[in-house]
Amino acid sequence: MESFDVLIVGAGPTGLACGIECKRRGLKAVLIDKGCVVNSLYNYPTNMVFFTTPELLEIGDIPMTSLNEKPVRAEALKYYRRVAAHYDLDIRQYERVLRIDGEDGAFVAQTRDALPHDVLSHVEEKAGLETREYRAKKVILATGYYDIPNKLNVPGEDLDKVSHYYREPHPYFGHDVLVIGGKNSAALTALELWQTGARVTLVHRAETMSKSVKYWIRPNIDNRIKAGEITAHFSSQVVEIRRDSVRVATPAGEIEVKNEFVFAMIGYRPDFEFLHAHGIAYNNATRRPVTNTETLESSRKGMYLAGVIVAGVHTNEIFIENGRFHGVTIANAIAAALHTN
Ligand code: NAP
Repeated sequence: MESFDVLIVGAGPTGLACGIECKRRGLKAVLIDKGCVVNSLYNYPTNMVFFTTPELLEIGDIPMTSLNEKPVRAEALKYYRRVAAHYDLDIRQYERVLRIDGEDGAFVAQTRDALPHDVLSHVEEKAGLETREYRAKKVILATGYYDIPNKLNVPGEDLDKVSHYYREPHPYFGHDVLVIGGKNSAALTALELWQTGARVTLVHRAETMSKSVKYWIRPNIDNRIKAGEITAHFSSQVVEIRRDSVRVATPAGEIEVKNEFVFAMIGYRPDFEFLHAHGIAYNNATRRPVTNTETLESSRKGMYLAGVIVAGVHTNEIFIENGRFHGVTIANAIAAALHTN
């Protein structure tokens, strides 16, 4: 069995930052991810443009450049690949951490191979895949939140035509597409689909699009709706998804909308069950894990939390821009703990 000072679950920007900071302090670290490096970014919409400028996405003091003011997905993927290679991080891709047993100083993680797959939520466990065990003195969980979509909990949500992830508009040209949600992903998805020739209906539970839609996106979606180019139903909820239609409860009563594809852009959440199964305490209402704010150590001694999972359900509090600094905090704490033991 291989042994490490630190085992990091997740090789997103935050996990990579943790790996770099551990390495800089002379700690032997391994990163394990059930997908590829920066798997969530890989699964973002193909034409995605970041909301922030490149320097706010940098880790390991490696400058990030972009052809434009704000980087696109492909530039970010290239940047994080180069950073991982530059620091020669030990990353095991397509390997799912199933369980972490043991205690501070002597954790044992059990993993199983995962298959590369385009749709991250459908990465299946298959019989015959190899399992492994790793020993580690400390564990960092940097598992992000993009793997588990929020659910509508309505009949028909499991139909193949429904997706919680949007990639690109081309396949939907000439089709009736329903977009659910009122924030940035819903606005961008609706706009791109409409621009590509889909007939778009948007359903949102609030009275208008959210105030948190970025100021450069908001006028576009509002004007498309005002012009009747995108049909919007506000203060409305999808109550059932059928093969050829969607039933929507609106303030004027229930309507049935002809429909071929549904994008439920209603947000994502961290894997609270994984935290719970590993004895990590959290607040029941906010699901915010109990952490030492100086070290980000959880209630399970020797297990540290990095990135958005620290925020519980308030996933809009931690992004790459601030989560990347968790690496320094945690690596300092682990180095201090291991060097004094
Ligand atoms: P989000 O910000 O969590 O918004 C989810 C939307 O779905 C909200 O409008 C919410 O309604 C609605 N919703 C949640 N649960 C629902 C339910 N059960 N039934 C009906 N509606 C429901 O998700 P997001 O837009 O995917 O954004 C996620 C993160 O990615 C954000 O931080 C966002 O800024 C970021 N983002 C970045 C980019 C980029 O960098 N280019 C692009 C898109 C998104 P309420 O408004 O009523 O709460």
